[in-house]
Amino acid sequence: MNTRTASRGLTHGEERRVAATVLVIGSGAAGLRAAIELAERGVQVVCVSKRRRDDAHTVLAAGGINAALATMDAEDSWEQHAADTLREAYWLADPRIVELLCREAPAAIEELVRYGVQFAREDDGRLTQRFFGAHRWRRTCFAGDYTGREIQRALIGRAAEVGVAMRDDLYVTRLLVHDGRVFGVYAFDVEDGSRSVIVADAVILAAGGHTRIWRRSSSRRDENTGDAMRLAAAAGCRLRDMEFVQFHPTGMVFPEESAGTLVTEAVRGEGGILRNAAGERFMERYDPERLELSARDRVALANYIEIAEGRGTEHGGVLLDVSHLDRDMVLRRLPRMYRQFIDLAMLDITSTPMEVAPTAHYSMGGVWVDAETHATDVEGLYAVGECASGVHGANRLGGNSLTECVVFGRIVGAEAARWSAKLDVQVRDRAAIAAAREEVDELLARRGEEFPRPLQRAVRDLMSECCGVLRSEKGLRAGLTRLEELAVRMRDMEVRPDIAGYDDLAHAFDLKGSLLAAQATLECALERRETRGAHNRVDFPDQDPRLQTNLVWSCDGTVTREPIPQPSSAVAALVDGQELETTGRLLE
Ligand SMILES: Cc1cc2nc3c(=O)[nH]c(=O)nc-3n(C[C@H](O)[C@H](O)[C@H](O)COP(=O)(O)OP(=O)(O)OC[C@H]3O[C@@H](n4cnc5c(N)ncnc54)[C@H](O)[C@@H]3O)c2cc1C
Repeated sequence: MNTRTASRGLTHGEERRVAATVLVIGSGAAGLRAAIELAERGVQVVCVSKRRRDDAHTVLAAGGINAALATMDAEDSWEQHAADTLREAYWLADPRIVELLCREAPAAIEELVRYGVQFAREDDGRLTQRFFGAHRWRRTCFAGDYTGREIQRALIGRAAEVGVAMRDDLYVTRLLVHDGRVFGVYAFDVEDGSRSVIVADAVILAAGGHTRIWRRSSSRRDENTGDAMRLAAAAGCRLRDMEFVQFHPTGMVFPEESAGTLVTEAVRGEGGILRNAAGERFMERYDPERLELSARDRVALANYIEIAEGRGTEHGGVLLDVSHLDRDMVLRRLPRMYRQFIDLAMLDITSTPMEVAPTAHYSMGGVWVDAETHATDVEGLYAVGECASGVHGANRLGGNSLTECVVFGRIVGAEAARWSAKLDVQVRDRAAIAAAREEVDELLARRGEEFPRPLQRAVRDLMSECCGVLRSEKGLRAGLTRLEELAVRMRDMEVRPDIAGYDDLAHAFDLKGSLLAAQATLECALERRETRGAHNRVDFPDQDPRLQTNLVWSCDGTVTREPIPQPSSAVAALVDGQELETTGRLLE
């Protein structure tokens, strides 16, 4: 599909019309796997993304992907995988979704191997599996420390083989809906601004999470801006568990453009020491026994408190030091970290401490989906991958998100194919298309004193200050007030496409996504008056059994409680409530 060439004959305000049986938004692992399933079933599918497909956020995943293959520990089973996931989720994950995920995970790994993923293997050919976070057994497959990149490479290759039509740099601004049923999307080309209306029987939303709305984020620069949440909510979907965002304890803080880039937990694993600006080894106060090897949440909290209470560095971080370790050992065991700091900060970590701070890392919440089909509240619309909710509850078990992408990618592909096959009539609605067109026209016509990038920065600052690792009623309410002020400032925002392209328009829509995702997060965080998993309330420091429910958010700002079903008896029997020892096990 070559929109660019075809768009040249269009006059101003006209859109190119494209028809797809199923449209997939997003070419990360989830979107690609869904598109492959459709193409393998002979369904015509178009897969679009706002960035290049080989640079989707998925390529950052390093550590691995889970499936109970029992290649290393014969005792492992999918039921135990499910039990570990539910425990780590603080009982807020949907057991039906988790059980499906864990049951299907081994087949998903087999498929990836068939598509050409080169996972690490033992000498006898078995797939190597390692411990990763709070798993009872070794069940994480990996490819060096570039698992995500390897999976992405293989999925792109397979998508090309089976004839998926791919389109990079196409920004979806709106889902087109008539009478509660999706019939396509409205989009523009980030390079030349030309517009497309893509009509489809079904749409699969695989557009990632919302971790970029914090000042420090381990995400790609212009990804995870909450687009999926805005697109879904504007179409009539509900969002779930938005208050749960995983913060990794150590992201870079300097230079500013690299802020949030992950500093692997292996640095602490190899003997890195955390100090505040006064030189104190502060973990002695937070966890005198395990010190830097304490649980990820506790280290994130400790780093956060040191910085918030004024004991941080000039750039707002704490110091992570490996300069006391043997230089050769650091170069051998942490080569990527050595390179990262040389490349991004011109800093030699073998002689100078790194400045680090907690960084927003993963969105546990997202679009509400049906447990079995991942259908949303809008007919014909499915959500999958990091933008969907239900697998991770209050905390994600490391390595489960890649599994989620490929397992549910296959499932939504099959479901969308089924939906399309049983559709008698495909409705279209000119008014819905006109509204989407006007939204873009109106943004481009605006003149004023404000610009998208500084406003994005203001959202990130407010989320970091009011809804970071530690939260309180006062801070969350202040966040909502500041958000309203930003929405007013946004009316004065000028969007300036230039010779280099329509990035500024993309940033304006990113900002819209960020505002909506921020509102949903703040309102759910306010409603969850307890401390659980990744959500820490200073004013409600304990877990409240009455809140063992999901919080479901709607566009009108209402938050309702949704009961959580019981796990099956086979899984329930394996859930013992015991915390596993995770010292020294990476979680990223
Ligand atoms: C540093 C790091 C390490 C990680 N390590 C692991 C790990 O070891 N194991 C693990 O399981 N998970 C890991 N994760 C998490 C995992 O990488 C992600 O959860 C997963 O890759 C998300 O995939 P996805 O397909 O849902 O979305 P993404 O890969 O984020 O893809 C989203 C797609 O949507 C497109 N898109 C977004 N908005 C629009 C729009 N408006 N219009 C058009 N297209 C749009 C984007 O361009 C992109 O193609 C890690 C994450 C990070 C940041």
